[in-house]
Amino acid sequence: MLDDKKRQLIRDILEGKGVTGTCNKCDHKDFVIDGYFHLDIQKSLTNANLGTSQTVPSVGLICKNCGNIELYAVRAVLPHDSQL
Ligand SMILES: [Zn+2]
Repeated sequence: MLDDKKRQLIRDILEGKGVTGTCNKCDHKDFVIDGYFHLDIQKSLTNANLGTSQTVPSVGLICKNCGNIELYAVRAVLPHDSQL
């Protein structure tokens, strides 16, 4: 889990990029940022390939009402020199 300082920095960056507002499923306005996710990159849809080295590190905004998770690619959002 991320500490409060990192969580707030990520929230500020996302809000600065216009990622604010409401959950796209239930229109709730409160989100939680717990930590990072990574998405495996698949070369095909025929086989599930777990544990590949090619991943997309992401941060998730989790709706406090319905649990919907909106993912954002960390490298596209956070500064490249970020130690987050
Ligand atoms: Zn929701």
